[in-house]
Amino acid sequence: MRQMNDNLINTFGEYVFTDEEMKKRLPYAVYNKLMEIRSTGAELDSASADVIAHEMKEWAIEQGCTHYTHWFHPLTGVSAEKHDSFLSPAKGGGYIINFAGKELCKGEPDASSFPSGGLRATFEARGYTAWDCTSPVFVRKDAAGATLCIPTAFYSYNGEALDQKIPLLRSMDAIDRQAVRMLRIFGNTTAKKVNVSIGIEQEYFLVDSKKFKQRKDLVYTGHTLFGHMPPKGQEMDDHYFGMIRQKIASFMKDVNVELWKMGVPAKTQHNEVAPAQHELAPIFEQANIAIDHNQIILHTLRRTASAHGMKCILHEKPFAGVNGSGKHNNWSLVTDEGKNIVDPGKTPHENKQFLFLLSCIVKAVDKHAGLLRESAADAGNDLRLGADEAPPAVVSIFLGEQLEDVVKQLIETGEATHSITGEVLHTGVRSLPDFNKDATDRNRTSPFAFTGNKFEFRMVGAKNSVAESTIVINTIVAEAISEACDIIEKAEDKDKAIHNVTVRNFIEHQRVLFAGNGYSEEWIKEAERRGLPNLATTVDAIPELTKEQTIKMFEKFGVFSENELRAREEMKYENYNKTLNIDARVMVDIAGKHIIPSVIKYTKVLADDINSLRAAGFEDTSVQEEMLERINRHLKSAYTALKALVVIDEKANTIENAKEQAEFYRDHVIPQMSALRKPIDRLEILVDKDYWSMPSYGDLLFDV
Ligand code: ADP
Ligand code: MG
Repeated sequence: MRQMNDNLINTFGEYVFTDEEMKKRLPYAVYNKLMEIRSTGAELDSASADVIAHEMKEWAIEQGCTHYTHWFHPLTGVSAEKHDSFLSPAKGGGYIINFAGKELCKGEPDASSFPSGGLRATFEARGYTAWDCTSPVFVRKDAAGATLCIPTAFYSYNGEALDQKIPLLRSMDAIDRQAVRMLRIFGNTTAKKVNVSIGIEQEYFLVDSKKFKQRKDLVYTGHTLFGHMPPKGQEMDDHYFGMIRQKIASFMKDVNVELWKMGVPAKTQHNEVAPAQHELAPIFEQANIAIDHNQIILHTLRRTASAHGMKCILHEKPFAGVNGSGKHNNWSLVTDEGKNIVDPGKTPHENKQFLFLLSCIVKAVDKHAGLLRESAADAGNDLRLGADEAPPAVVSIFLGEQLEDVVKQLIETGEATHSITGEVLHTGVRSLPDFNKDATDRNRTSPFAFTGNKFEFRMVGAKNSVAESTIVINTIVAEAISEACDIIEKAEDKDKAIHNVTVRNFIEHQRVLFAGNGYSEEWIKEAERRGLPNLATTVDAIPELTKEQTIKMFEKFGVFSENELRAREEMKYENYNKTLNIDARVMVDIAGKHIIPSVIKYTKVLADDINSLRAAGFEDTSVQEEMLERINRHLKSAYTALKALVVIDEKANTIENAKEQAEFYRDHVIPQMSALRKPIDRLEILVDKDYWSMPSYGDLLFDV
């Protein structure tokens, strides 16, 4: 055991070009320059870049690397890379192993095939990747050998962002500036920077890879398009935190070891609510690093699953009827002096700075609730949000008993004089210690919940990056702090102004606070009464991106230009439309080529059976007849629905305007897809399993 722990510490970050490694290898002045650039953001001169690149390459070669890649995240949602070897032509002929500073700092992948939402035409292929020196360089070892991966940002010829990283870094800058401004108002003269920390909990499913491959819907779309619930689902709650089976445990061990080597601080693992569903959470890190690390986690989960004869499913809703998978974004702000300013301390009512910040967060979330919801919008996530598990599509904030009480005091009396403390919890068992109860319980149904010293945004789907939501949270909070600071900095009596702004924010935006059951019907009605937006689908949410107040805010803080926002809006529609078009076509394919023909074969078996029985002199063939009648009836509905889906999907494809097309998918294609699914799921329980062409939900979920 001790040896395993030593291994954990010794191998952690083995594949990372860490700060210590750089300190060892780089000339002192170059190392210092790089550290300075990281915190202040100046430009790296070419001489220093050459030195860093050279040492990086030397280190990479020691790790067995032959290639390097600028590793970036285009708006496709998955990471992209183009590999180059370290081989370079030598001056007098022949070749040398070389890696120049300019190759480290800038890359030029052909950008024409990545989504840009019209930011550049296909013939304008130029796009650039630029080294993000704040996220560590690492080596990935796989079938391709060892590759040096350089985290980069991706932008167009005109400098517009073609990825999530650029706006993310811009938004981190925006909140940094505003939060430091706030600290100054509260008398802190020493902190130079405020960083965004995020911890990303990742849910996923594991299924047997042979069975996965027999399901075309899983292969093509990542989720099932048909499937009847097995006799047992998740109703016994016996999977959540249940004993981890040996096969899964062995998978998790390999995932952890891989991640630790790549410097990803994997920490918590457990079974999730649904059968075959699990979770992995690393320790929180600076936002851009945590998001890069989440990409490494997704990749590692997939790769390790394959090596274990399994498939890792990251879709938000792989199976209807059991919980889908999310990605929780735990967000906080920490100063360069190491203080988490989202931590209220033991007596929040006395912590004026915290209450001020909290009031700004409440205002930000209320004002931009629709935009926040949009940051988690995706065709797959539409199947999950509000489906009795993940949070509803209505954004609200859960503060917990203690803060709620302090806010209530402020709203009702203008003063907060006390904080509820957690009383002692008596276990009633002599051999068990009594302990202090937390001052606040948890609320799992809230999309935006305060959890002690951070906020947890729970809407994002499992396969998507939390970059979008982090960009939104950073910027909306930056805006609210900035508006408040504008007032306070001008005021004669600053203390009074702070107090007034804090109380006013709470009064004006209290409608977004909600502590009840977010899954209930009553809440949806109550939310409507309060005027909170309920954007049920992606198509309803996308317009939030280009609302006037959104554009104004993002432009003010230099996070997105209007052009970039319009491009993102376009891309989101396109992505939605393509996803649904593929779903519809796969449904048609499976129903038409596999299910309906198999059911027809089975009806022949029944019909033959009836004839044989009659020929043998049995008069009562009523069971077979009834089955045949029922199956035939559902078969007919399925066939009719299939034909209608083909027609309607073809019609969808003729619509040119992306928004109108998306609306058509939402209003016509999706209902027709459900109309096809219904009779087919009925047929699944009527037809002999030997005649059913795909593994069932039960086979997938309970027999990994
Ligand atoms: P739960 O499932 O109870 O929400 P977990 O422990 O599974 O909690 O995950 C919580 C996540 O929040 C982890 O990634 C953790 O590192 C992260 N986290 C903890 N403290 C902070 C903080 N101050 N800021 C951001 N993230 C944090
Ligand atoms: Mg959580």
